[in-house]
Amino acid sequence: MNTQKAHLRAVQNAPQRAVAYIRVSKERDGMISPELQLTSIEQHCERSGYEIVETITDLDMTGRFWKRRQVERAIGMIEAGAADVLVVWKISRVSRNRKDWAIAVDRVEGIGGRMESATEPMDTTTSSGRFARGMLAELAAFESERMGEQWKESHARRVKAGIPANGKPRFGYQYSKEEGFSPDPVTGPVLADLYRRYLSGQSVYSLVKWLNDGPTRPVSGYGVSSDGLWSDRTVRRIMDQGFGAGYITYHGERIPGIHEPVITEAEWIEYQARRATRRVHRRSERSQYLFSGMIRCACGATMHAGLYGNNRSPKYKCGAVGNKRKHTGGYVMTSTVETDVLAWLESVAANVEAEADLAARAEEQTAKAIDAVGHLRKQLAKLSTRMDQLTNKMLDGTIPDDTYRRLRDELQAQRDDLEVSIRDALVVASRPPASLIPDLLENWAILPLDTKRDLLSRLIHHVEVEPMRPRSRVTVHPRW
Ligand SMILES: [Zn+2]
Repeated sequence: MNTQKAHLRAVQNAPQRAVAYIRVSKERDGMISPELQLTSIEQHCERSGYEIVETITDLDMTGRFWKRRQVERAIGMIEAGAADVLVVWKISRVSRNRKDWAIAVDRVEGIGGRMESATEPMDTTTSSGRFARGMLAELAAFESERMGEQWKESHARRVKAGIPANGKPRFGYQYSKEEGFSPDPVTGPVLADLYRRYLSGQSVYSLVKWLNDGPTRPVSGYGVSSDGLWSDRTVRRIMDQGFGAGYITYHGERIPGIHEPVITEAEWIEYQARRATRRVHRRSERSQYLFSGMIRCACGATMHAGLYGNNRSPKYKCGAVGNKRKHTGGYVMTSTVETDVLAWLESVAANVEAEADLAARAEEQTAKAIDAVGHLRKQLAKLSTRMDQLTNKMLDGTIPDDTYRRLRDELQAQRDDLEVSIRDALVVASRPPASLIPDLLENWAILPLDTKRDLLSRLIHHVEVEPMRPRSRVTVHPRW
């Protein structure tokens, strides 16, 4: 090595040999295309009179994986006397680790080489230049620590293995270091029952009451209320998380875990679909009125239930009442709506009264739903391909960052929509609406209000009312 250094000094008139070092990261922040990095490195070398003898590209590595990266090869070239200067696009992109940085600079300078930044020009032969470079490295290290990259990487590794990022207690499960999470013999069945009761139409509020009447209490980490009792928030959180369905969450994304689920995948899909439908009518979930959230006035406004008039009788009131241009009146008795919807249900049931007819109708609905799922899955696959192409284009530098982000968000939104449609179709396939009607009619008098409302919402898109005297007109708009 010493002889090589001596050799270098002897040929001072020859242009200095530079290694261009490019780092491409898939992290979205501070991303710049390899082409742009190379262009600015080339310009820097031209200005300084360097000849680029090698271009080294590091792909998709975070700044912390210093040792495994190509930068090691670049430093090696200087150590071997094959190059004099290492030129990077930005010092903060070389290493995010303070110690790695110091060692690298030491190694490069210790053998008579230099490290320079194409975008942060500074004369590192002077003490102020070295100070500035040190500051940049400090800033990079600070940024890295703030982001807790190392912590995230260790999370990512655990998540990859299907293990939750932390060992905090999960309701329905017991935890041991050796075996990880496994269903708890007492609370596991309660968790499963929770989902099944929800699917049978029970409201979250009735589930809260059921849980608080029982022996189990929520475990910490779900935003437990100060009295230690179950709340609607806690119940929703536990169910939404999907741990009981075998999933873990990472960065808001749900991925399959390695622990044993307490409910089936079909139940989980149905849960998500029901949850999405009911979320729209969240306020009405607690209402004492059967058609809350489902009823509209012919004028287009929604109707709200309450005790109205001199006799304080239960009615739905049009939201546009008081707006004289729309209509006068605007009330309908709740009993009128119920009578008419019941009559509608019976007429539908009469059409499919024979069991064979009902089975045929259900089969038809199932077949349609299965077709729809196939079609939607194909669209989803196409979308994924487009997403991959887009990411590659971004990494090539073919499209700028902001364009990439915009298109990515658009594709993501389309994907979310498709996933909702697939879920809905899967639910119909597993439980066609027509199959619900006989049970609903047979048990109309004894079913709890929230169960009836939930079953109705699977059949009925909305109920339209034309308020008038002597009797309002009620039209049912079914989901099919
Ligand atoms: Zn109205």
